[in-house]
Amino acid sequence: MSAKLEESNRQLEYISYHDNLTGLYNRHYFLTTFNHLFNDMQRQSHDASLMLIDIDFFKQINDKYGHNAGDEALTHLGKLLKKAIRSGDVPARWGGEEFVVLMPSTTENDVKQVAERLIQNIESYQFPIIAKLTVSIGVSQFRADDTIKTWLERTDKALYQAKEQGRNRIRYSA
Ligand code: GH3
Ligand code: MG
Ligand code: MG
Repeated sequence: MSAKLEESNRQLEYISYHDNLTGLYNRHYFLTTFNHLFNDMQRQSHDASLMLIDIDFFKQINDKYGHNAGDEALTHLGKLLKKAIRSGDVPARWGGEEFVVLMPSTTENDVKQVAERLIQNIESYQFPIIAKLTVSIGVSQFRADDTIKTWLERTDKALYQAKEQGRNRIRYSA
């Protein structure tokens, strides 16, 4: 293959795996990777954590500062998220203003530290134009009887509780 063709293949591959706004993985790539890693987890019943992150009152932020300012905040948030996690973790843009991180070989203690550091870093960060932004985080540990669906649902429930209990906080599912 010519060097030029190889380079353009690499670019296409990159585009198909990533979200173009934040540079994180996209939902499709995340779910594919999740499936692979999940099989390993079940076989070895390893510790693993799942984290869902949702921006607080993002609609109001868009309404007040405009959609472009919101987009820029999403980009910065992606960078903060990448900085807070480890190299084996898989961070993705799950939906509009929602992010997900799969963390293999991670204990409840580990994930608590990561989530707390992340929420603090975001709270103290000066975003362009909008200045301030907070997130809510739902976290849960892998269980031997989980499917991907039940694990995601449990994590989503934890996120919902974080929202309900006032936002800008982390909730762990039981
Ligand atoms: P909550 O604290 O309950 O999460 O409130 P919220 O306003 O963040 O939640 P809601 O789901 O009502 O609104 C999400 C908003 O996120 C709506 C939409 O305008 C915004 N949003 C989603 N994707 C994007 C995007 O790619 N760019 C921008 N700028 N905004 C987005
Ligand atoms: Mg949302
Ligand atoms: Mg939101």
